[in-house]
Amino acid sequence: MTEARYRGRFAPTPSGPLHFGSLVAALGSYLDARSQNGTWLLRIEDVDPPRNAPGASDAIQRTLEAYGFEWDEPVLYQSQRGKAYEAALDLLRRQGRVYPCSCTRKQLAEAAHRGIDGPVYPGTCRNRPVPSQPAALRLRVPEARIAFVDRQQGRVACAIASECGDFVLQRADGVYAYHLAVVVDDAEQGINHIVRGADLLTSTPRHIVLQTLLGLPTPDYLHLPVVLDAHGNKLSKQTLAAPLNNSAALPGLVQAAAFLGMHGDPWPQSLSEFWKWAVPAWSQRLIEPLRGRHPRAGSNPCKS
Ligand code: GLU
Repeated sequence: MTEARYRGRFAPTPSGPLHFGSLVAALGSYLDARSQNGTWLLRIEDVDPPRNAPGASDAIQRTLEAYGFEWDEPVLYQSQRGKAYEAALDLLRRQGRVYPCSCTRKQLAEAAHRGIDGPVYPGTCRNRPVPSQPAALRLRVPEARIAFVDRQQGRVACAIASECGDFVLQRADGVYAYHLAVVVDDAEQGINHIVRGADLLTSTPRHIVLQTLLGLPTPDYLHLPVVLDAHGNKLSKQTLAAPLNNSAALPGLVQAAAFLGMHGDPWPQSLSEFWKWAVPAWSQRLIEPLRGRHPRAGSNPCKS
């Protein structure tokens, strides 16, 4: 049997412009795909309307172009994928895996214990009658230990019920959850390699649970070290990380390549030279171990 051709992606949320942390994820996923003659796709994760900043989706694409990224197929927008998410939700419903939850934030905060990625919902609404008011929909997770081998982090294992709990698939306001959307879309786009920041490592067991229940393949995962600011927080739009400068693509790319452990000797002097050099120079083995570059490094109970 021949191995499926590499298909990777970059999937930014348009909650603001790209910043250096996003550039590292874009570059890592791009180089990993291109160095294996793979396809690289762009998906705009605009599933959650209140989080979408006006103009951000276009701005992200202009920045990626200015930096020399080329995507192979039309951009997929999550805002146009409601039917596919509903179909997946239906499949889970038919398996008896979906139930409405009308717990308030306060009730959630009181009942939950802390898991690998925030509060673990104790299943309060599992056997309650269907509420009359709009409710969130949760997945009744199986009592299973989810294990996978991340190319960078090694073996990761997680007891999904006790460490993550029943998670939300659709909010009470009708917005589909990231976990559902990402799994459905990766399958739709035939993604078989996911390269993204290690801040999403704790989400991956939930994605694998959904893939299994929906009968979808599980891609290969590579979680990159997260870029931290001077206070040890992840660079993010919420912490007002500086937007990438479209007129300073080369220095930005060089800095991102250096963050990923690459060394130019000398560094390329133009954008076209950069890409000519970077694709064959890429090796995942150059990336430094996670420890010390991510706030949860070494203390992540998800890691075994
Ligand atoms: N949309 C997510 C973000 O911008 C990334 C999702 C993913 O790569 O799976 O952080």
